[in-house]
Amino acid sequence: MGKFSNVAHYQDFTELKKILSASAANTYDMDKIEKAYKFAEKAHGDQRRVSGIPYILHPVSVACIVAELGMDTDSVCGALLHDTVEDTGVTLEEVTKLFGADVAKLIDGVTKISKIPYSTREQQQAENIRKMLIAMADDIRVIIIKLADRLHNMRTMDCMPEQKRRDKSLENMQVFAPIAHRLGIKTIKDELEDRSLQYLDPIGYKEIEDDLLMTEEDRDKFIESIKNQILAKTEGIIPGVYISGRVKSINSIYRKTYMQGKTMDQIFDIFAVRVIVDTVSDCYNVLGVVHDIFKPIPNRFKDYISMPKPNMYQSLHTTVLDKNAIPFEIQIRTWEMHYTAEYGIAAHWKYKLGMGAGGKNNDKMEENIKKVKDMILDQLEAEDVTDIAKKEYQKRFYGK
Ligand code: MN
Repeated sequence: MGKFSNVAHYQDFTELKKILSASAANTYDMDKIEKAYKFAEKAHGDQRRVSGIPYILHPVSVACIVAELGMDTDSVCGALLHDTVEDTGVTLEEVTKLFGADVAKLIDGVTKISKIPYSTREQQQAENIRKMLIAMADDIRVIIIKLADRLHNMRTMDCMPEQKRRDKSLENMQVFAPIAHRLGIKTIKDELEDRSLQYLDPIGYKEIEDDLLMTEEDRDKFIESIKNQILAKTEGIIPGVYISGRVKSINSIYRKTYMQGKTMDQIFDIFAVRVIVDTVSDCYNVLGVVHDIFKPIPNRFKDYISMPKPNMYQSLHTTVLDKNAIPFEIQIRTWEMHYTAEYGIAAHWKYKLGMGAGGKNNDKMEENIKKVKDMILDQLEAEDVTDIAKKEYQKRFYGK
């Protein structure tokens, strides 16, 4: 599996400790986390995964994903313990006594979510998402642990029977990936979708994967040349300009090629050049430089810095032509925006940890997280209303 070959399927406690100690905030309560690990290890005893691997490696791997997102001590403990109440004799009372009410609430939330029956019928999709979001509205960390759980199950799905792989993949596409998207957690959204697509349409997936591999060298050269042109004009004027190229996820290319009937060379944003700088004003300075070097395509400029997307995403987007009239997209953002673009709402916990508990900024973060939650819920309500209006309209005018 080319694209994901660098992702470890199972991680152990040593690796979790490594991730936690590498965290910039590094405010983890290691004693509590180690206690949760030992407790989970004992609870799962000699249970094994379908693949034959000791069960405990699954919750530890989920905890690694949660830790990589920058989540806090209780989230990491919740991830380590997420299957104990459902799959072992452990009770919520025990967990509460040993790890506190917060951790117990997280585990209870994850267990409850796994009991929601997911229908893969399309008309049920919005309803399912809404149910899950309402379940999460109490504590978004529950959803983040659940997403990490789904992601790790997808990483280890190969030994499952085909029907189960397809069922889970469909659920991911219709319920979990959209939730990751709403929360702005792009890393999880992209991997969930690509892994699911691989089971839903293995041939289509491989075609795109091969195509990307074949054109990789040309793309790298192209990006290198763009990068040098921008650097030449910003050097000594705008400090700390970081430029990289990025290829879209296989699923997003798939959606454009198969569903919109475009061929690979018709999608000019298969890849984008990303420019990261230190300050917001430097973003606009870089934009000026970019539009000076390359001809911008009209109506393709978007300022998501002054108008962030509902999932908090911020960047400047512009599509320009190189000297051979090849169109490509440039995204310009600060490091902070970059972190939010990759980790979405999880980024807020990271900042929160870094700033220490109880501070003024901490309250502001809480407020932000609450605002995002309210926004997501409002949006869902609005979608439902649109949906109902649409149905009503069709019934009235088309009699169906
Ligand atoms: Mn699990």
